[in-house]
Amino acid sequence: MARLHLFDLDGTLLHGTSAPLEISRQLGVEAETVALEQAILAGTIEPPEYATRVHAMWTRLTEEHVTAAFDGAPWLARIREVWAAIRSRGEYCAVVSLSPSFFVEKLTGWGAHAAHGSRFPAVPFTEPLDPTGVLNSAAKVVIADRLCGEFGVTRADCVAYGDSLSDKDLFGAVPMSVAVNADAHLAGLATHSYAGKDLWDAYELVRHAR
Ligand SMILES: [Mg+2]
Repeated sequence: MARLHLFDLDGTLLHGTSAPLEISRQLGVEAETVALEQAILAGTIEPPEYATRVHAMWTRLTEEHVTAAFDGAPWLARIREVWAAIRSRGEYCAVVSLSPSFFVEKLTGWGAHAAHGSRFPAVPFTEPLDPTGVLNSAAKVVIADRLCGEFGVTRADCVAYGDSLSDKDLFGAVPMSVAVNADAHLAGLATHSYAGKDLWDAYELVRHAR
């Protein structure tokens, strides 16, 4: 039976940072974004407001900035190797992230079967952000269910990898989960736990497990 591996992006595939922070670094608005991330962690703002505010900060954003942010980000080692191994076993891998779609979707170029993020307008922005396209923890489960349908598997065949609160619902919905460089709360909800900078070592924990 095929499995579907569902990867979070910020703090999971990216070590100690997020896609918005890496994008903001390119534009010199990193400090403002750190403040927004603290606000979302503290629960004083929700994902739609966070997205609205970063979108408003990124009026000068170009595709070159996005590429530089993606290429320069601190990715875990061996992401492509893990996804190639998953594919070679006839299994599936997908990224589901609250981060902007235009960044998340680049990961299909590394071998993910699917990559879903919060729906942002195309870069450079000429359209407003639609807050209803912004994902949250519960939306990750909805997308996971849709992907299960696309790949012909069920929740029972899923493995989730994540690091924080936004992965809580998904970890509760699937039988196997890997907390990657996670906070203690999420690690307590996971079946496996990994701390380090190499995705292969996290994958190895569940590679042969069923
Ligand atoms: Mg995360």
